[in-house]
Amino acid sequence: MLGNLGKNLTKTMKKLAGMSIVDEEVVKEVIKEIQRALIQSDVNIKLVFKLSKSIEERALKEEPPKGITPKEHIITIVYEEMVKLLGEKAHEVEIDQKPYKILFLGLQGSGKTTTIGKLTRYLQKKGFHPAIVCTDTWRPAAFEQLKQLTQEMNVPLYGDPENKDALDLAKKGLKQFKKHDIVIFDTAGRHKDEKDLLQEMEEISSVVDPTEAILVIDGTIGQQAKDQARAFSQATPVGSIIVTKLDGSAKGGGALSAVSEIGAPIKFIGTGERVDDFEIFDPERFISRLLG
Ligand code: GDP
Repeated sequence: MLGNLGKNLTKTMKKLAGMSIVDEEVVKEVIKEIQRALIQSDVNIKLVFKLSKSIEERALKEEPPKGITPKEHIITIVYEEMVKLLGEKAHEVEIDQKPYKILFLGLQGSGKTTTIGKLTRYLQKKGFHPAIVCTDTWRPAAFEQLKQLTQEMNVPLYGDPENKDALDLAKKGLKQFKKHDIVIFDTAGRHKDEKDLLQEMEEISSVVDPTEAILVIDGTIGQQAKDQARAFSQATPVGSIIVTKLDGSAKGGGALSAVSEIGAPIKFIGTGERVDDFEIFDPERFISRLLG
């Protein structure tokens, strides 16, 4: 289970392999290498220090359990501390009330619309019947994009490109689909300015009263992810995060910083442009990628 992580920190881990006890110098060296890897992966610097402090404290204090080598022990600590940060376990969406109202948030270009398609397909495969409401009155193509998507998947869509009142659209959509098991609300990703966008999200959130607000974060944006997460979570309590575009070279360290900023777990990741390029979030793989 911890193989990748060890492999990725190769040099230091090699040194560790032959030792029967891990002294302070070695622990500090491992920590330094982890720090380097995390910073290169765009993890926020304060978070890197917080993380290394907890790893160092445990590595120096705790004796390896019987049968566990110092190397395995330190890998376990690194792994556990990082997983703790990510919220322990991969969660799915648990549909426990009807209609389950999902509010999608995210800046334009983050992959929000594509991700709505992906989540819808995922939920359909589980036997649910989601409906989608388009409240984006700022991007003229948003409704068209959703229309195409929903037609392909045979999903009901409510929207009205003539209506420029996002709150009214949200209300009408909610009314129309109140008998559905899941209603997904697409929202605008841009506005006159960011303040207005966040104000609109706050208002839509109070109209929709979402069961779960999902923030879509572009995995390639690095440090800005943290600020985006904070801004959106001030508009409405963000329940979970989906990180997109992890099919490229991006390591998603920004997303890790976003998670730590608002304490919402990552539930899924996007790994391509197609509707099936969508995976349940796997903390272990994510961490290996960050440190690799
Ligand atoms: P929105 O403005 O947030 O609704 O973003 P879109 O859903 O229109 O996506 C913006 C661009 O990102 C499009 O070209 C998508 O195909 C692309 N995209 C979305 N998710 C992913 C992903 O997981 N991987 C890759 N490679 N591209 C993605």
